[in-house]
This record gives sequence, structure tokens and C-alpha cells, in this order.
Amino acid sequence: MTTIVTTGRTDLDDLFKLSDILQHKNLSHTPFLAFVADGETVTVRLVSSADELVESYAAETPVMIQWAGKWRSDFFRMTVADVAWGLERRRRARAREQQPGCSICGGSIADGYRPREDELGWLKLCRGCCESYDREHPRPALR
Ligand SMILES: [Zn+2]
Repeated sequence: MTTIVTTGRTDLDDLFKLSDILQHKNLSHTPFLAFVADGETVTVRLVSSADELVESYAAETPVMIQWAGKWRSDFFRMTVADVAWGLERRRRARAREQQPGCSICGGSIADGYRPREDELGWLKLCRGCCESYDREHPRPALR
């Protein structure tokens, strides 16, 4: 079996949160590179969206992508399974945001917003859930 060794950063949380690579429909500047092994041959394919990657390639397929910043540009390495996980987490976060009522108990929204623990957005909470949240997440004292 052919071993494919990729290289790059592995802190995918930041990549998935801060870049638009999961939602972008045509990554023409920085496509995903998918490394497909067939016998002794490895073919590197350019894939222009996360959806296409997950729909068309096996979960264990090694993947690299470049994230171009303003001052520097980094490569990341992952597998198709990682991308699928990122898409799924994003989908769930969006579903929760669109859900009416309190994000925790489903009750009517009365009081406000609290940051989600994965920092992907906000929880809309009723008064009771806000109070519970604040008890469980004490804010650091201001200096
Ligand atoms: Zn609630």
C-alpha cells in the first residue's frame, strides 16, 4: 500500500472558523489538493469546494489546502473526514441559530445572548437559562 505523507498545520479549528474554505463554492485561488492513491500511483486532484470533496472522495483521503492571509500563507493538512466533520459542525451551528426560542430549553426568548462554548456564534437564551449560564460561566472580574 502506498503511504502518502502530507505536510502543514493541523489546527483545523481556526482554519474552519476564520476562513471561508468550508462554505466557499469555488476556491479558484486556493483549491483543496486531494491525494488519491491507486496502486503505486498517487494523483493529486484540485477540488474547488468542501462539499465536492466530501461527496466525491473517500473519508481517509489525505488533503491539503493553502490559507492565504494578508502577510503570510499557510498550508494545512487533513483528511476528507476532517472536512466532513467541519461541515457537519457548521450545519448544526446554523440549525441552532435558526431555531426559534431559547437555544437550551426551547422556551420563549426573554433575556439575551451568550457566547457559545465553541465560539462559533451565540446562544439565544430565556431568562432562566441566562441565569444558569451565568452561574456556570462566571465572567472574569474587570480590573
Ligand atoms: Zn431557556
